[in-house]
Amino acid sequence: MRLRLENKTALITGAASGIGSAIAALFAREGAALALLDIDAAAAEVSARQLVDAGHHAIAVQADVSNADEVQHAVAQAKEAIGRIDILINGAGINVFRDPLTLSDADWQLNLGINVQGAWHCARAVLPSMLEAGYGHIVNIASVHGHQIIPGSFPYPVAKHGLIGLTRALGLEYAARGIRVNSISPGLILTPAAERYFQSCPDPEAERRRQAELLPCKRIGTPDEVAYAALFLASDEARFINATDLLIDGGRSQLYHD
Ligand code: NAD
Repeated sequence: MRLRLENKTALITGAASGIGSAIAALFAREGAALALLDIDAAAAEVSARQLVDAGHHAIAVQADVSNADEVQHAVAQAKEAIGRIDILINGAGINVFRDPLTLSDADWQLNLGINVQGAWHCARAVLPSMLEAGYGHIVNIASVHGHQIIPGSFPYPVAKHGLIGLTRALGLEYAARGIRVNSISPGLILTPAAERYFQSCPDPEAERRRQAELLPCKRIGTPDEVAYAALFLASDEARFINATDLLIDGGRSQLYHD
């Protein structure tokens, strides 16, 4: 059977953990050669080594996506190792949840710098060669926070709304030149970041149950469930899908009330 990403290459950011890591594992199984970009070099190395040991083609590159120079350098390293970049997955992101009135300028910038500008830095670094090839798929990992507001999570939703805006604008900009840009908006997904959130609550298990109960399907999502959507959007199967966002939240964001 033909693999869905045979002869394709992908640069995946935030690939050392959670959703990015699940996307990397699935893309590798589907035949893509991978560059795993993360700020955590050691963890990215471990992930790449596991994929290589399983017979896949993967390398680790380090960059803080909020730093344009580091991104350019990492993308150059990635291209040297795996050739042209066909697919970019912008998975790197952090939760910045603060009280609006005591939020520092530094945290405002941290949120936008990683969650929006980081995706732009990576897109900007791969777009010239994608345009030259007339082929490229970009998938940004946004969030339900880019659609709906959960009080207490400011200013993270500002960034995720921006990331969906970036998706739509860039998608139209290069649609006629073979480039597609889409985003995925996951609801709560069981990743190390979600675990850290649970552990920050006075009663982590009660919060876990409360979050599951909020969802129409009564369970929290898994990284693999996001990875399969990323696989579809990043593959040629989705070639007429551009500049749009796919919600993966078990239906939660359509619910008015129980
Ligand atoms: P995670 O913390 O498990 O993984 C994030 C990865 O990004 C880590 O490996 C981390 O080292 C890397 N990273 C963080 N800052 C970086 C930077 N400046 N430069 C390069 N790499 C950096 O998180 P996750 O839950 O897997 O989240 C992945 C993406 O999915 C994020 O964009 C997040 O906003 C989004 N998301 C997550 C959920 C969820 O419930 N887990 C829901 C909606 C959206």
